[in-house]
Amino acid sequence: MAVRRKHIRTTASQLLRSNGIESAPVEVEKIAEYLGIRVQYETTDDELSGFLLRDLSRNKAIIGINDKHPETRKRFTVAHELGHFMLHEHENLHIDKRFMIQLRDEKSSKGEFEDEKEANLFAAELLMPIDFIQTDLAEVNEFDLEDDDFIKDLAAKYDVSPQAMTFRLSYLGYIQL
Ligand SMILES: [Zn+2]
Repeated sequence: MAVRRKHIRTTASQLLRSNGIESAPVEVEKIAEYLGIRVQYETTDDELSGFLLRDLSRNKAIIGINDKHPETRKRFTVAHELGHFMLHEHENLHIDKRFMIQLRDEKSSKGEFEDEKEANLFAAELLMPIDFIQTDLAEVNEFDLEDDDFIKDLAAKYDVSPQAMTFRLSYLGYIQL
């Protein structure tokens, strides 16, 4: 998994660089467009977060997003589907119902679940890149990090949910959950 994690981080940071994205919030749709992927929003039942449909013969893809969900969640889902696109070439159609946002459960490692964890990690690396976070937290002390408002403001800057930001800061070792 260590090798995969490195690969996932590198893949995300190369995409950011190729698109000239150097600050938050990361424009996920611009990245999708760069990859030749159309993002479409549709209102559907709550269960469905999104899907990735590949057209292998034409090297194109469509990402579908449930328009009913909050903005931060929709952005995370686009990034998650981009993760499947970049990392998992074995599937033509991938449907995401309620995928798990947290990456803490390291024990489960069965195929499908592993793909979901990788797509979530990719989404986190894309939306909350480590170098952006390091810059933002360079002059922050641990008391600020314990303040819910601080994390809320940081999440707003990255246009992600406070929950996603909390997991990210924990993953990067800034806070303990
Ligand atoms: Zn997924």
